[in-house]
Amino acid sequence: MSAPYIAGPTLGDARRTVLALNAGGRRATIDVLGEEIHTADEARAIAASYGEVLAAIHDDGLDANVSVKLTGLGLKLDLGLCHESLAVLVRAAAARDAFVRIDMEDASCVDDTLALYRELRAAGMDNVGIVLQAHLKRTHHDIADLRELRPSVRLCKGIYVEPSSIAFKDAEVVRRSFVSCLDALLDGGSRVAIATHDEELIAQSLERVAVLPPDGYELQMLLGVREARATELVAAGHPLRVYVPFGQRWYEYSLRRLQENPQMAGVIARATVARAIGRG
Ligand SMILES: Cc1cc2nc3c(=O)[nH]c(=O)nc-3n(C[C@H](O)[C@H](O)[C@H](O)COP(=O)(O)OP(=O)(O)OC[C@H]3O[C@@H](n4cnc5c(N)ncnc54)[C@H](O)[C@@H]3O)c2cc1C
Repeated sequence: MSAPYIAGPTLGDARRTVLALNAGGRRATIDVLGEEIHTADEARAIAASYGEVLAAIHDDGLDANVSVKLTGLGLKLDLGLCHESLAVLVRAAAARDAFVRIDMEDASCVDDTLALYRELRAAGMDNVGIVLQAHLKRTHHDIADLRELRPSVRLCKGIYVEPSSIAFKDAEVVRRSFVSCLDALLDGGSRVAIATHDEELIAQSLERVAVLPPDGYELQMLLGVREARATELVAAGHPLRVYVPFGQRWYEYSLRRLQENPQMAGVIARATVARAIGRG
């Protein structure tokens, strides 16, 4: 597996990657790749993998939390199963003093994802956070609706292609939305994880968090993206977390990264050929 965006197919690969990141002063969030599942058994297998990840974080003393996609826990197959698996995961994390970030997927998942998040918080689980996407027009309303919970939020632009009826399309408008979402979240007392590699947004965000203590915010980047910039930000004293995906289902994830950055085509193509001929 040669794509730079993935730790590798196994938990051992993720452990090694996180240890190296931690040695370089970066935190991590570990994602078990589980998109495109088709059965409840696959969803249960992913939930079980997260249990193993939490154990590894604890046993190895990793500076890491977990990120989970609810479709991987069965959001589209069986909402009850998804809720139960997520609650088990968040409780298991709480028992180990760990945190669970619920990734945000395409627009068809947003209502259910926010509803499950609210249910966990209503049940007293506070070691859980969500992701909000600045490109969605609804996000400003979601921030207002969630305000009384003071949610821990990862703010990102949003990676899924959505229709212009519900999403901003112009890059400048998405940037402006990102900054005003950040302002609204900080105003509401949320702890914000600023997830972007966009230099202009990094600069505007740093101006805004300058007044906060280091535990009041963090920057987040994807594994394999803008690593030199991440090094500079850490050297300047900013808390920075790297998103570390691992698992067998690396191909779909790599394709999405590829859509963002076509220059990676050569790397992905080589990995694909190696896999096809059995050496990947
Ligand atoms: C930690 C983290 C978690 C995320 N979680 C979610 C989520 O839960 N849901 C969701 O919808 N989206 C998520 N995203 C993706 C996010 O929504 C954006 O699609 C993605 O970060 C690209 O937007 P950008 O703000 O980095 O700006 P861009 O304008 O896309 O990128 C700015 C610059 O960064 C560099 N860059 C960006 N992408 C790459 C790449 N793939 N390879 C190499 N260089 C690159 C390029 O130099 C580019 O010019 C996450 C992003 C991060 C960093």
